[in-house]
Amino acid sequence: MAGSRDAKEEIRQRVGIIDVVSEYVAVKRSGKSYKGLCPFHAEKTPSFTVSEEFQTWHCFGCGEHGDVFSFLMKVENLTFAEALERLAKRAGVELERFRDRQTSRRELLGRLNGLAAAYYTGLLKRTPTAIEYLHNRGLADQTIEQFRLGYAAPAWDGLVRYLTRKGADLKGAEQAGLVISGERGLYDRFRHRIIFPILDIQERVIGFGGRALGDEQLKYLNSPETALFSKTRSLYGLNLARKAISEKGYALIVEGYMDAITAHQAGFVNCVATLGTALTLQHINVLSRYTQKIALAYDADSAGMTAALRGAALFDEAGCDVRIVRLPGGDDPDSLLRKGRVSEFAAAVAEALAIVDYKLAILRERHDLTDPAGRAAMLKEAARVLAEVPSFIERERCIKELIGYHPNWDVGPTRAQNQIRADVEALIRRGQTGAARKRGPESAPKPAAALEGAEKSVLRVLICQEEGAETVLNTLTPEDFSSEMSRAAAKALFEMFEQKKGIYLPGLLEVVGEDVGAFLSQLAMSDEGPPTNEKALEDCTALIRNSRLKRLRTSEVLGPYMKQGIIDASDGPHEQTMEELKEFLEKSGKLPEDSGQ
Ligand SMILES: [Zn+2]
Repeated sequence: MAGSRDAKEEIRQRVGIIDVVSEYVAVKRSGKSYKGLCPFHAEKTPSFTVSEEFQTWHCFGCGEHGDVFSFLMKVENLTFAEALERLAKRAGVELERFRDRQTSRRELLGRLNGLAAAYYTGLLKRTPTAIEYLHNRGLADQTIEQFRLGYAAPAWDGLVRYLTRKGADLKGAEQAGLVISGERGLYDRFRHRIIFPILDIQERVIGFGGRALGDEQLKYLNSPETALFSKTRSLYGLNLARKAISEKGYALIVEGYMDAITAHQAGFVNCVATLGTALTLQHINVLSRYTQKIALAYDADSAGMTAALRGAALFDEAGCDVRIVRLPGGDDPDSLLRKGRVSEFAAAVAEALAIVDYKLAILRERHDLTDPAGRAAMLKEAARVLAEVPSFIERERCIKELIGYHPNWDVGPTRAQNQIRADVEALIRRGQTGAARKRGPESAPKPAAALEGAEKSVLRVLICQEEGAETVLNTLTPEDFSSEMSRAAAKALFEMFEQKKGIYLPGLLEVVGEDVGAFLSQLAMSDEGPPTNEKALEDCTALIRNSRLKRLRTSEVLGPYMKQGIIDASDGPHEQTMEELKEFLEKSGKLPEDSGQ
């Protein structure tokens, strides 16, 4: 074991990332790093950046990043083992000495998740009220078993005690996000919830979703980002759906766990769900292994429509054939299918609309088309939708569908068609100047942007180990950072500093999740330097600390107790969702006896 990490680092140092990359990409020195055209996406100006200092690469165009191993894997389409073999040979490093630490770490997290999943499913079987809840939601026993659904009891430490009995690695369980370390020791992340294990395509449990059974603030709670689990990459149900996706030739994407499960139960077995996040390019990459055809079936409310349009645009840009399913108003796939309206859902999927048709359909629905003023208003908005369609043929097809609503329809369809076309083309011409006018001079950064900038600067000081890194470590804690992303990044950096007395970026990228990795990689490679003088750095740390104090003081949960001086901000909860703040309060032990709910 001892020599394995050294071996991997040794390979990185011996081969030199610039030498390897140069064999595939023409790179030129630019400042501290090297730049070239990205081999992983089409581009005309170089945004692919390689750093000799960090021994990593990052593309500012497509966001791909990594070390020499991941570069070779991607560019040559190799498995890790194959890339390793090649580079080891090149570096003259004997592979026998080598055992992949990252793999064994992910294996550990997978094993612990598997144990937890078994615990939750066992608990469900012994909890009739939880089973009844699922039955009431229309799920058959077979479905409950197929999706390995489970139950987490209200107790604080049920899983902690189970894992302890099993002799499991509790530190690892904390890294897997199963348990949380609080002032009074470890406690379960998921309590009094229905548990949805999230499996990867190798049927390995990579994370969990939990739906509250009580009236907790947070209806859905997911595992945090880990080395194994990334919300922006994982799709719920893909392990069960991928075969059907290939066979049916398209993937059906829904928004929630229950939507996906009900869809599978009703026979739509090519269905996957996002995990409470918007669709990302990474989701698209994952799906594109199976199909280029996508149908989005989101809630028929305005949030769902907006999310569907945003997701569809992303697939469209990636060159996929994407359609949007129109469900009856007020329904989502789960509610519709639970009412037994399966054929209605099937028809909606079969008749899913292209993006432009979907937008036009919404417009027709929103306006009173029996009224001339309503028709005129609809046509005006429709012209704006059509002005964004690049293809002339596509625009003409849509215009033909609209001519019936035009006031000149009676006079002659051709005249109506010509006038709509003229309106659209006028908008296209004006759009070019209008878009340019919008981009005025940069105004002063908003408070949120200033805070984000300060956090990035401080994190960069840590990554680049600039002077001042010590100050940051002494004045801030990871919890001071404002977003989930910056907190996770800070946590990883602080931990590595503590353990290794410095930062080794390729090593860091191995232990953080994909998203945090991309964030850190981008920070490291970004051209904007960290604040160079002591004063600027002080301003940044002060802003970060003050913002956190403000957040804590204004939080509904903690605010009143802070005002009364029962607790103070330096106590610091670890998370800042309402639920975590409440937990913190309950566990802080500082509340007067009679203040409980
Ligand atoms: Zn790229």
